[in-house]
Amino acid sequence: MDEWKKKNIRTLTFKELQTYFETIGEKKFRVKQVWEWLWQKHAHNFDEMTNLSKELRQTLSDTFSLQAIRLDVSQYSSDGTIKTRFKTHDNHLTEGVLIPVDNLPTGQAGRQTACVSSQIGCSLSCKFCATGYMERKRNLEFDEIYDEVVLLNLMAEKTYGKKLTNIVFMGMGEPLLNYKNVLKAIERITANDGLAMSARRITVSTAGVAKMIKQLGDDGVRFNLALSLHAANDAKRNEIMPINETNNIAALIEALNYFHQKTGNDITFEYILFKGVNDSMQDADDLIKIYKQVPVHLVNIIEYNPIDAADFTKPDKDATQKFMDYLANHRVNVRLRISRGKDIDAACGQLANKVSIPVATSQLV
Ligand code: SF4
Repeated sequence: MDEWKKKNIRTLTFKELQTYFETIGEKKFRVKQVWEWLWQKHAHNFDEMTNLSKELRQTLSDTFSLQAIRLDVSQYSSDGTIKTRFKTHDNHLTEGVLIPVDNLPTGQAGRQTACVSSQIGCSLSCKFCATGYMERKRNLEFDEIYDEVVLLNLMAEKTYGKKLTNIVFMGMGEPLLNYKNVLKAIERITANDGLAMSARRITVSTAGVAKMIKQLGDDGVRFNLALSLHAANDAKRNEIMPINETNNIAALIEALNYFHQKTGNDITFEYILFKGVNDSMQDADDLIKIYKQVPVHLVNIIEYNPIDAADFTKPDKDATQKFMDYLANHRVNVRLRISRGKDIDAACGQLANKVSIPVATSQLV
C-alpha cells in the first residue's frame, strides 16, 4: 500500500482519534499519549512513540500516515539569523528563517522570531521577490506549517537557549491563498495542547487579497495583519505586484477597514524602497494619503535586498532617511526595518531554496 494514500493522522481531531481508539479496543489514555507525540513531541513516525506497545505502533502505522516535514540544511548568517530549508514527505523544498534580536532599541526584551512559509513557491510573481520567480508547486498543509514553527522553536532553544517569541508569515507563498491551512496551523500553534503561543505574537503578511482580508474579519481572527504595499498608487503597484490589477488599492483600503472594524487587530504596512521606483516625495505623499484612510499601526520601511532575477537597487542612506523623515513629519508612525540574514539570502524577498555558502545539515531532529 502506498503510505501516503493512508489517512494523515494529524487531520483527525482529538475526538475522532478517541473514536478510532474505541473501535480498536484501546484504552482511553492512549489517545492523549498519541496526541502528545503528534503535537508536542514532533514524532516523525509511529516507531518513535516509545510509550505505546509495539503492536499498537504497528496498527497505527498500517492505518495512518504521518507526514512530518524535516530539516534539510541550515545556513548561519554572521548576524545570527539562521535560514533553514525543509523537506516535505513528497520531497518538495521550502524555507523558514529564525531571526534572533537581543535587545530592541525601545529597551524591550529581545525576540526570537520565526519567519515561515505557507506555500511551496508562489503564484503571485511580485517582481522584486525571488520566490515570485519560482513555480508554485502546492500549498503547505496545516500540519506542515505547524512543523516549521516547531522546528524553528527547537532551533531557537538549542542555539540561543530561548523559545520563539514571535511568528511572521512572510516566507514563501501568499498565506491568504492557502487560507484554511494557515488558519488551522495558527489554531494549533496557539492551542494549549499545541505550542500555546499568543495569537497577538503572530503576524500574517499578505500581498493584498481583498476578499480574504475581509474573510479574516468575518472569522474574527486574533492575529495581526501586514500588507505588503510597496507602491502607493495603482500604476506603480501594477508594475511590481501583478495582484494589484485585480485587488487595487481602493479595494485593499476598504478590506483593511473592514478587518479592523471586525477585529481591532494591528495592521502594518510593509514598504520596500526601490531607487527611482517608489522613493520620491510624490510616492511619500501617495503613501500618506493611504495611511490616512486605514487605521495603520506602523509603516515598516524595508531595505531592498538584491536578487539575481531582478535589477532593482536600493536608495542610499540619505535618500532613505529623507523619505522616512517626510513621512514622520506628516505624522506617520514609521520605522526602518533592517534586513537580516542578507549574506545567506535569508532576508525579505530572497527565499528561493538557494544554498550559496557552506551549510550544516541539522542534528536537531
Ligand atoms: S512577495 Fe510574497 S506574494 Fe509576492 S511573490 Fe514573493 S512570496 Fe509571493
